[in-house]
Formats: sequence, structure tokens, C-alpha cells
Amino acid sequence: MTNLLRPFSCVLQSIGLAALVWSGNAQAADPLASVPVPVTASFSILGDLVRVVGGDRVVVTTLVGPDADAHVFEPKPSHAKAVAQSRLLVTNGLGFEPWASRLAKAAGYRGASVVASQGVQARIVAQGQGHGHADSDPHAWQNPNNVIIYLRNIAAGLSQVDPAGAAIFRRNAAAYAQEILELDAFAKAEFAALAPNQRKVITSHDAFGYFGAQYGIQFFAPQGMSTDAEPSAKAVAQLIRQIRREKIKAVFLENMSNPRLLTQLSQDVGVTVGARLYADALSGPNTPGATYLQMMRHNITQLAAGMRLN
Ligand code: ZN
Repeated sequence: MTNLLRPFSCVLQSIGLAALVWSGNAQAADPLASVPVPVTASFSILGDLVRVVGGDRVVVTTLVGPDADAHVFEPKPSHAKAVAQSRLLVTNGLGFEPWASRLAKAAGYRGASVVASQGVQARIVAQGQGHGHADSDPHAWQNPNNVIIYLRNIAAGLSQVDPAGAAIFRRNAAAYAQEILELDAFAKAEFAALAPNQRKVITSHDAFGYFGAQYGIQFFAPQGMSTDAEPSAKAVAQLIRQIRREKIKAVFLENMSNPRLLTQLSQDVGVTVGARLYADALSGPNTPGATYLQMMRHNITQLAAGMRLN
């Protein structure tokens, strides 16, 4: 994403939003025209989860699409229009989408909202590492068990706007939760044979804290929790020393990140960069990260292969 290099600023963000206030006539949501329910999800992973839970009772618009970076997202008038026409807005929360509430306001949104991460035990990070004003790690979906909470929240939100579908949403969420448990078991089995000193990975930005906590893996990243700023020269130098000292061979890029920094870093210390991981976004249709379950299986397999080289 070239977006990554663009300096992020609240001022620019506000100007952008002021310009996108949608001036079309919002169609008043007709409570009788209930199915399919128009739902907007803030980013691709949530879009997938809403489709799974909602099935054919929902039509989902995703604001930040595949391979795109929600941290530095700049809404356009078309996004405001999609929000205005929705009856449910689903966001991650934990400071992941600092632009979402301004967008909803700019769009004149009056529908229901769901914060999918509500009830998740948030990882607290040191002040200044979070997303601007937050100090919770927002990447909670990286622990599959948290996604079971996401599913429950999404099912509750959908039931609120489509009560007739409530039993279906509960059933879909429960069936998918079973697949999540299988995913968690798959990850544990893949990582089981790794020794403690092998369980170290370098990634572009600090998105895998929940994953690392769940599976006993240490992740190091030159970029912090958000991608809205380039890492300092000092942080990069520190990481290079660490890679050398601990002989870390598992170095991975992310699908929504700029490859320049990590490629440079891997050349400097002579390690090969592994396959791309799916951190904050799915990939496009018919690719290895097209759904949440696929992206997680891909990450798990690649990470296990990379750490075996450590
Ligand atoms: Zn992130």
C-alpha cells in the first residue's frame, strides 16, 4: 500500500471528512423491507465474519477492502454513502478505526452499531505504542478464540435489526465457532514441536500480540501497533542487533504493508523474507487469505515453517 508512506494527521483527516459529507438524500430505512439487511463492516476480516453469521439475510459492504490498511484509511464520499444506506455498522473497536465515528457522523448515520471486540480481554500496550489515543492492542482477531466473541456480538447486532433471523444468526455463529476451535487446535499442533528458543518471528508491524500470547511466540516488529508512522532509525538498528544476536531467521512481510523496510532489513542482516502474512486484512478472492479461516491457516503454516529455521 502506497498509503503507508503518507503522513497521517488528524487535521488532514478532518478536512478529508468535511469534504465528503454526503449530500444525497439518504433513503430512510424501511423497517418492513427487512431482508437482506444492508450492513457495513469497517474492514475485510469483519466483512467475512458478518457474511458468515448473516448468510443470505445480509448484504455486506466492506469499507477497507482486501490487502488494504485500515490504520491509514481515508474515507471517500462513496464510503459515507454506503454507511448512510446501512442498517447496521460493524467496527472492530479498541482504537483500530479512529476514522469510523467521524465517518458515521459525516454520513448522518442513524442505524445500529456493533463493536465486534466488545467483551474481549484487551492486551494493554505501553503508552504511545497504541493507535494515537488508545493504548489497547486492537488486533484481537489474531487470537481465534476472540473471534468467537466477535461472532456473538455480530449475531446480537444482526438480531437487533432483523429479529426474524435471530435463530439463524445464532446457529450460523455457533457452527462457525466450532470451526474456530478446530483452527485453534490446528495451530497448537503445528507449533507443538518448536523449542522455546525457536519461537521468535520478525514482522512488519506489531499486529500479532494476541496470536503470540495464545501460542507462546514472540513477535518483533520495526513498526509499532499502527502503520501510521515510519519506525525510527534507532528502532530499526535495535531490531537488526536483535536479529543477529538471537539468530532469527523467521522474517515475514504483511499483505497490507509496504515491503521496502523489511526487505532492506533482511538484506542488511542476510536473512530471506518468508511468505506474506495476513495481518489486518484478507486478500482478494481465490487467494490463500480470502477468508478469515484461510488467512489464519496460511499464517499458521507459514509461521511454523519459518520458525523451524530458527
Ligand atoms: Zn495493525
